[in-house]
Amino acid sequence: FLLNCFLATGGAEYLKYKDPRQPLNVRINDLLSRMTLAEKIGQMSQIERVNASFDVMQKYFIGSVLSGGGSVPSPQASVETWVNMVNEIQRGSLSTRLGIPMIYGIDAVHGHNNVYRATVFPHNIGLGATRDPALVKKIGAATALEVRATGIPYVFAPCIAVCRDPRWGRCYESYSEDPKIVQEMTEIIPGLQGDIPANSPKGVPYVAGKTKVAACSKHYVGDGGTYMGINENNTIISQHGLLSIHMPPYYNAVIKGVSTVMVSYSSWNGVKMHANHYLVTDFLKNKLRFRGFVISDWQGLDRITSPPHADYPYSIKLGILAGIDMVMIPYSYTEFITDLTNLVQNNTIPMSRIDDAVRRILRVKFTMGLFENPFADLSLSDQLGKQEHRDLAREAVRKSLVLLKNGKYSEKPLLPLPKRAGKILVAGSHADNLGYQCGGWTITWQGLGGNTLTSGTTILDGIKSTVNPSTQVIYSENPGVDYVKQSGFSYAIVVVGEYPYAETFGDNLNLTIPEPGPSVIQNVCGSVNCVVVVISGRPLIIEPYINTIDALVAAWLPGTEGQGVADVLFGDYGFSGKLSRTWFRSVDQLPMNVGDPHYDPLFPFGFGLQTAPSNA
Ligand code: BGC
Repeated sequence: FLLNCFLATGGAEYLKYKDPRQPLNVRINDLLSRMTLAEKIGQMSQIERVNASFDVMQKYFIGSVLSGGGSVPSPQASVETWVNMVNEIQRGSLSTRLGIPMIYGIDAVHGHNNVYRATVFPHNIGLGATRDPALVKKIGAATALEVRATGIPYVFAPCIAVCRDPRWGRCYESYSEDPKIVQEMTEIIPGLQGDIPANSPKGVPYVAGKTKVAACSKHYVGDGGTYMGINENNTIISQHGLLSIHMPPYYNAVIKGVSTVMVSYSSWNGVKMHANHYLVTDFLKNKLRFRGFVISDWQGLDRITSPPHADYPYSIKLGILAGIDMVMIPYSYTEFITDLTNLVQNNTIPMSRIDDAVRRILRVKFTMGLFENPFADLSLSDQLGKQEHRDLAREAVRKSLVLLKNGKYSEKPLLPLPKRAGKILVAGSHADNLGYQCGGWTITWQGLGGNTLTSGTTILDGIKSTVNPSTQVIYSENPGVDYVKQSGFSYAIVVVGEYPYAETFGDNLNLTIPEPGPSVIQNVCGSVNCVVVVISGRPLIIEPYINTIDALVAAWLPGTEGQGVADVLFGDYGFSGKLSRTWFRSVDQLPMNVGDPHYDPLFPFGFGLQTAPSNA
């Protein structure tokens, strides 16, 4: 056997870890036994792509690289540019003594959203409204293909936060306020990674090969429960509350073989999650038997002590001892590597902890076949933004729409609208803006306005291509009352809502419809039969205008396929979505979630009028 191996390797030394016929644990142990401390700490380091030169990868044995929000090789970079960039970084890793491949990760949180021309799916809040885990699984599979097309094997998704307060700027990244719905939507994990084989031991990570990606459930745990929805703040809740509201989705994620878990910036009862040994090690790793790796959030260790932190080694010590295996240190990696090396050399952090971290990282890399297939090629390039994925996104948009009102008082329903309708007014800044309908985490971190952002259809495009050719569609962003009254419109469709934001930039204590949305509603709906479509990452205060509005649709952040909104407004498909969140009346009711004693919503959790398709 050894002779055969010797011959097969062309005379080079036979290395068990490089042999895919060896059992996983044999490979891990063999490789670990050969590694120096520097090589181990390198594996635990994840740096930003802008720092990941060939030389840096080689010199520091860096284990992972990321594109942080919107960090792209060039604006509108082609699939080829992405693949070449990732491969070049990989060459640096493979040029090291042991040739351990790096793993490249990116925030593909609603499709491959950093990448120009990719399919952008509705944000999670809209997917929660579909109540369709099978659809969400397909979205995971499509996302995996588009991400792999650009040479990337790892995504920082899904966010399985249970958002309990819509004032939180990341509310739209959460499928629901109800843990059960978030649990169901973890079906995206087998979509991204593949179905875990039936006989897999619990908690072992699983990625089915080159058309699938490693997933990351985030942000562990309680990110959606912070005080007043303040991002990265303190979640004040009993242990029972934490385990029954915020933890349940992690049970499902671990059972489905999620490869990695990202720790939350937030605290639980005053203790930073990044320093919480009980929850990261005792609970996630030991009790739930999670065997993949735990990754910090972006500079998450730096934030363990309040900035400016006097003692970075202290923060590193707390984080690593809590159980964090891979550290996202986008920029200050040399400082991290030096400090962690010292902490191990002076026995503050035991080698057994480092070995546990490296074992977990290697387990994921071996399982997903990175050693056998470290480089990407262009064989999947036709997957990016392909028609089948756009059709799936359009279906998701249709199913995510929630019809909140249809007709005034006892009048007959307004929706679906007839396709042959004389003259229709379309108003509001969100009717014709791809960037607004995609929201944050699209091309850039905060999201942008504009129709040249990427490829897709706006809601206005969708309306124009759906109506009968005899119907005139007139768009006016902010029409005056007199114009609306005098122009003889049969209907108006008003599309208003939030402007894009991500993370803390989206924290909002008012939750009113941003200007000029309310005046557009008042000017238009006072004069003509009108449908208001709200584009937003959460419910907004609508009660003051509700009596002027004839029909009201929550469309969330639908992504690139605005056509899906028109499909339902004009009856090609019926409305079927249900609120995945409580639609409150005023912010002083918040937090208010289904099951609360003084529940008094404008529209309750689960509400959504249904309509039948009608091809008028
Ligand atoms: C976010 C994470 C994200 C990471 C990397 C952080 O700011 O909290 O959700 O995965 O950045 O971009």
